[in-house]
Amino acid sequence: MSIQAFDLISVGGGSGGLACAQRAAQYGAKVAVIESHRLGGTCVNVGCVPKKVMWNAGSVGQALADSRDYGFDATVDGHDWRLLKEQRDAYVQRLNGIYARNLAAKGVTHLQGRAHFLEPHTVEVNGARVTAPHVVIATGGVPTVPRLPGAEHGITSDGFFALESRPRRVAVVGSGYIACELAGAFKELGSRVEMFIRRERLLTHFDAMLGSALLREMLAQGVLVHDHVVPAAVREHEGLKALTAEDGREFTGFDCLLWAVGRSPNVAHLRLDRAGVAQDAAGFVVTDASQDTNVPGIHAIGDVTGRAALTPVAIAAGRRLADRLFGGQPQRRLDYRMIPTVVFTHPPIGTVGASEAEAREQFGGAVKVYVADFTPMYHALTQRKTRTDMKLVCVGPEERIVGCHVIGLGADEMLQGFAVAIRMGATKRDFDDTVAIHPTSAEELVTMR
Ligand SMILES: Cc1cc2nc3c(=O)[nH]c(=O)nc-3n(C[C@H](O)[C@H](O)[C@H](O)COP(=O)(O)OP(=O)(O)OC[C@H]3O[C@@H](n4cnc5c(N)ncnc54)[C@H](O)[C@@H]3O)c2cc1C
Repeated sequence: MSIQAFDLISVGGGSGGLACAQRAAQYGAKVAVIESHRLGGTCVNVGCVPKKVMWNAGSVGQALADSRDYGFDATVDGHDWRLLKEQRDAYVQRLNGIYARNLAAKGVTHLQGRAHFLEPHTVEVNGARVTAPHVVIATGGVPTVPRLPGAEHGITSDGFFALESRPRRVAVVGSGYIACELAGAFKELGSRVEMFIRRERLLTHFDAMLGSALLREMLAQGVLVHDHVVPAAVREHEGLKALTAEDGREFTGFDCLLWAVGRSPNVAHLRLDRAGVAQDAAGFVVTDASQDTNVPGIHAIGDVTGRAALTPVAIAAGRRLADRLFGGQPQRRLDYRMIPTVVFTHPPIGTVGASEAEAREQFGGAVKVYVADFTPMYHALTQRKTRTDMKLVCVGPEERIVGCHVIGLGADEMLQGFAVAIRMGATKRDFDDTVAIHPTSAEELVTMR
């Protein structure tokens, strides 16, 4: 068996692995990326990027629906899902090519194949041994499919992006951000959508205001939401799927059922046992604050670690790891606090920092909350309406802002700048002292009483 030696190997060529590998190569390290599927990983191929394309398509549909109210004489003769998919796939393919060229330009060796450990610092890929003093586990996650009779009749987010045509009637099982985003995309593009959630709220990991406001908006769009449904089985008859709940209720007639019930670490083929790498109860690779595992020289970044599963988090952790290992910055590590994020629903959600409930648990009576809700000016002329809800969570006599949560038109592009200010320790007074930008929705965040 041939042996290739490197300074660093990244197992996984997704957001985190590529970022770490390229940064390490920039410092002069000899680096290999091993990727079993397509470069770019989840985000580029079956995550953020194609999802955002679908969200954009939904936004175009809404603008078309509103166009008459703004004086346009536009007629829409339906929507071509297949054409949209072709265009989307072509874009993703262009990105795959750009990633490959970037690796080549930085002198990173790209090995195509699935890797597994032989021993702590040696992996096997395509029958060859590849070894390095630093091995980065960056294998990401996979969608979870519940172990239920008939579960195979459902698709996951991966299957969503493979759909060649628009399903007529869809069941979306789950209440997290991926469930809400994909339910929204289906709805905006013309499917009938029913959501099945275990409890009564959407987005239970976010500030409660966001989940309730999103529920209100989705119901207004015509999404049916069935609460307190614990799935027990799925049946398929003549292409139509039926979902049975644990309490015996049955929901029938779906030509598509989508599981969006969480993601699991992608470690099944890695043979982590041969390297002695510790995992938690759910299988995620356990790392310390510097992305080190329990085995010296083996590191892990991104979704496989089970911490803040977002692309910019995987990228930031990967780059900082390379800075520390090869860039002479021994203290460099990612601060996992105050990570802003967006949920691409209609309307979108932007959020950063503590929810009100988290802040109250940590700071008790020292918490003060400011809220605003209004109909954005865009809707002054439209028959279709959405509402905007905002919340600032402040702490202490100086009213330091520890959380900012927005659902409404424009929220997706609103939060990045506010996240900088909040991370720097902004207080309510700082917000008040900032002159508003008028007329916008964002100005409400600096004029709250
Ligand atoms: C539907 C959906 C929407 C999302 N939307 C957003 C969003 O809007 N914003 C956002 O920030 N995040 C979003 N995410 C999350 C984001 O995609 C992930 O957080 C990010 O891709 C994690 O990067 P990673 O490097 O950890 O893993 P991945 O990007 O998953 O990369 C891991 C790579 O490792 C490869 N691999 C696995 N095992 C092996 C092996 N044994 N050998 C070789 N290669 C292997 C895989 O093929 C994969 O390419 C979304 C995710 C999904 C599913």
